[in-house]
Amino acid sequence: MPVIDLHEVTKTYDTPSGPFTALRKVSLSTEKGEFLAVVGRSGSGKSTLINMITGIDRPSTGEVRVAGAAVHELGQQALSIWRGRNVGVVFQFFQLLPTLTVAENVMLPMDFCDTYPRAERRPRALALLERMGIAEQAGKLPAALSGGQQQRAAIARALANDPPLLVADEPTGNLDSHTAVEVLELFAAIAAGGTTVVMVTHGSEARPYITSTVELTDGARV
Ligand code: ADP
Ligand code: MG
Repeated sequence: MPVIDLHEVTKTYDTPSGPFTALRKVSLSTEKGEFLAVVGRSGSGKSTLINMITGIDRPSTGEVRVAGAAVHELGQQALSIWRGRNVGVVFQFFQLLPTLTVAENVMLPMDFCDTYPRAERRPRALALLERMGIAEQAGKLPAALSGGQQQRAAIARALANDPPLLVADEPTGNLDSHTAVEVLELFAAIAAGGTTVVMVTHGSEARPYITSTVELTDGARV
């Protein structure tokens, strides 16, 4: 079964100047362990597509099946439980909670979803930070970390509940090119381990790492 299966997804926003269609009948299917890049100019609908996949927003028409769920049919509560267990999300600006330590940030999804016994959460967080190469930052607050280290912490947090899908919207957009390549290599390793990775990217630096591409122009697949 595909991890992501979108069938003719259309998204029309209501705007003060009338309806605006940001996605037009987009279909796509990804298998386990793929590293999929979503590319296209600014405003082409990349973030809208990501929001359909994560269930952050709903399609106007069409079907969204992700990690075994018909996401377009889930109610708010079922959606938040499903998302917490099945989708790790990484943002451009990291979005770590500033008053929690790095380890506590990584433990948060486990606390929220009750996926691991309480006593296992901190060791699991530390193991994920170790895997991301920043074990020694675990006890610090996010502000004490470099951008690249914060993004690694955010990836560790996204992996906290061992989701089948990791989604990242321009995760390297705020990093220097050297650090960006390191983050891409992490994503490639995560995908090679069997987690499906979907990443919005502007640049071509991801090309050596990705296994497939979805290109959008004015909300339609090219
Ligand atoms: P990208 O991520 O490729 O830059 P987006 O998916 O953010 O593109 O946006 C696609 C188009 O939809 C843009 O023209 C944007 O202005 C519009 N758009 C995005 N979100 C909304 C919204 N909530 N309401 C109205 N228009 C939106
Ligand atoms: Mg965007």
